[in-house]
Amino acid sequence: MENQNSTAAPKKKSPRRYNRKTKSTHQDTVNEVVDSSAESSAPVSQNTNDQPDRLWSIEDFSVPEVEGKVRFHDLNLPDRLLKSIAEMQFEYCSEIQAATLPETLQGYDVIGQAQTGTGKTAAFLIAMISDFLDYPIETDRNPRLARGLIIAPTRELALQIADDAIKLTANSHLNVVSLVGGLNYDKQKHILETERADIVVATPGRLLDFARSKKVLLNKVEILVLDEADRMLSMGFIPDVKSIIRMTPHKEQRQTVLFSATFPKDIQALARQWTYFPKEVSVVPEETTNKNIEQVIYTVEADQKWPILEQLVKAKENQRTIIFANRRDETRDLYERLKDADINCAMLSGEVAQDKRVKTLNGFKNGRIQVLVATDVAGRGIHVDGVELVVNYSLPEDPEDYVHRIGRTGRGGESGHSVSFASEDDAFLIPEIEQVIGEKIRCEYVVQD
Ligand code: AMP
Repeated sequence: MENQNSTAAPKKKSPRRYNRKTKSTHQDTVNEVVDSSAESSAPVSQNTNDQPDRLWSIEDFSVPEVEGKVRFHDLNLPDRLLKSIAEMQFEYCSEIQAATLPETLQGYDVIGQAQTGTGKTAAFLIAMISDFLDYPIETDRNPRLARGLIIAPTRELALQIADDAIKLTANSHLNVVSLVGGLNYDKQKHILETERADIVVATPGRLLDFARSKKVLLNKVEILVLDEADRMLSMGFIPDVKSIIRMTPHKEQRQTVLFSATFPKDIQALARQWTYFPKEVSVVPEETTNKNIEQVIYTVEADQKWPILEQLVKAKENQRTIIFANRRDETRDLYERLKDADINCAMLSGEVAQDKRVKTLNGFKNGRIQVLVATDVAGRGIHVDGVELVVNYSLPEDPEDYVHRIGRTGRGGESGHSVSFASEDDAFLIPEIEQVIGEKIRCEYVVQD
């Protein structure tokens, strides 16, 4: 990404602070979950004993100072947020968090280049939650008015973000609402009618439906997050996203955070258009792909792919594996073959109903399912730790998908492996992939007896 860091004066937070109280001092007791919205009733104490529970304090979250690392303690975050961070067992900021939080917490817009697995979700959520707790809404307010809006390209990613948001708001009364396509519309409508839309996590199409019918109101959004912007572009969502952004306050009146794994020209232009004197942050290592991932390409005859795959998957029992194929029919075919070979597997592609996809992902997360066969679009939502092996059964036609695919393993500093099959049909794609990742991938010629 070109370095376009602004040298302009810091953006003042005040313009978008209408109707908000002045900054709280973080002195609230954390064991009392205090509602931050004006329309709610008085603070609710969760203690029911005569002897109140010992109050949680930062002393309960002891993390030693380590040179070169930023602790969450060092960022002047509200205690109720720190408590949630402690409960999630985060101790030190990841690189993208250490790079963006000092900027976002001051109210700057940020354009961030980061892949999944870097901790970017918590990076923008922590900034948002900290801000909303520090500056509660003062006046009576329509509960349909969203304060924070996070837009993600896929349902799975949106649900994953909502999951993290729920965990990080567990000690406050900030409410998280997810509006995602493919899941029950009426249920989401009911939630909008009965709950406050403090933080809305959404996919573009469904959000636009609800915003156009005024079931959710975006004209007072204080913080807007656009996640995986490159993916929104490749999935054709930019017109929807533009319509949504037009419903939010002007960029000078909101804070905008945009993340993308890659920055093709179109995304650079949109990012500049949507942000106001942004700080640009990039944590992508030079070679773009994760250093913890050992990558190899097996050059094979097309009819050798299946026996080699079977051997790879059966070599290690319970090895959490994702296999990518290029098309739905190829995905289904592979899934059937794996099933016939008694391999514990499931399929994740556009042809699988959304509620089934959520169940499948949960099964994969909790270890009930060992192997997932996925297409690129469905695979984008797989944010599961402990994936040991990613297999590219066919090389992706878009080389950037290669980066996204293998990024499913080696998350959070763990090590991972990727094996890609290249046959006479797709070996020509290798140079382009190597160009995107900026390195040569080890190739092995494999013959199956
Ligand atoms: P993400 O890139 O947002 O998908 O996050 C990748 C993984 O890192 C998720 O499982 C997060 O829960 C985890 N994570 C995020 N921030 C931290 C942190 N500061 N310390 C430890 N784990 C983290």
